[in-house]
Amino acid sequence: MTRCILAKEKDPLGTMLNDFCGGDAAAFLNVWSSTLEMSTMQGATMLRGFEEMNNIEKCALAACRGRILDVGAGAGCHSLVLQSKGLDVDAIDISPGCVEVMRRRGIEKSYHCNILDVRNSRYDTVLMLMNGIGISGSLDGLNLYIQQLDTILAPGGQLLVDSTDLTGKFLEQGEALYDEEGRYCGETDFVMIYKGLRSDPFSWLYVDFELLRTICSFHGYRCDKLIETGEKQFLAKIYPCIVGQ
Ligand code: SAH
Repeated sequence: MTRCILAKEKDPLGTMLNDFCGGDAAAFLNVWSSTLEMSTMQGATMLRGFEEMNNIEKCALAACRGRILDVGAGAGCHSLVLQSKGLDVDAIDISPGCVEVMRRRGIEKSYHCNILDVRNSRYDTVLMLMNGIGISGSLDGLNLYIQQLDTILAPGGQLLVDSTDLTGKFLEQGEALYDEEGRYCGETDFVMIYKGLRSDPFSWLYVDFELLRTICSFHGYRCDKLIETGEKQFLAKIYPCIVGQ
C-alpha cells in the first residue's frame, strides 16, 4: 500500500496547487468518481481564506485547542489560520506538491507524512476537514482510524472531522444503502486528473452521523455533532468516553 505519493507524475493535486501559486489563477483539476458525479477542484478553493470558509470550517477552527495536527492539510488553509492565531500546528499531507505549497505559504511545520505513520506524537486536537473522514477510505478503514486515535490523542484530546450524509440521496433514488457485495453507499473510488497527470485510484468515504457514532462507541469513543448544514454536511467531535460516565 502506498503510504505517501513519491512521484510528481502521480501528484496532480500538488502540481495544480503549485501552478496556482505560480500565477495560474484558473488552475483546477478533474475528479472522477466510481459512484458520484464527476467534479472539479479549483486552486482558488483550495487556497481559500478564512472569510471564504463555510460555517463547518469556522466552527472547527474555533474549537481547536492545544497542540494541533491538521491531517490532509492540502494547501494548508486551516493551518495558516491557526498558525496566525499563534496556535501550535503540525500540518501533514501525503502529496509532496501540497507540502511544497504549504512551505511556500509560510506554514512552519508542514510534513510529507501519512496519518497512518504518525507515531510518538500526541495531539490535543486532530483536525480533518473538507469531508475529512474520507481519508479513511471505507468503513473498515474508519474502524482502523478510530482505533489509531488511542495513540495520537493526548489525554483529553479530540478529533474534529466533517463528512456528508449521502444516505438520503441514495434512498430517494430507490437505491440500497449497501450493495450486493455489502459495500456502503458512502464508499467511492476517486481518480484526480490534471494536465495529463493521473493519480492512482484511491478510496474515499462519506459517512452518515449515526453510523459514525455507532462505530465510535464500539471503540470507546463519544461522537457529538457540533453543527450541520442544509447540504447534509456535518462536523463531529470525537473523544474518548470516560470510564464510569
Ligand atoms: N484539508 C484540506 C485539503 C482537503 S483534500 C482542505 O480542507 O482544504 C484532502 C487532502 O488529504 C489531500 O491534500 C490529500 O493529499 C490528503 N491525504 C489523503 N490521504 C491522506 C493520508 N492518509 N494522510 C495524510 N494526508 C492525506
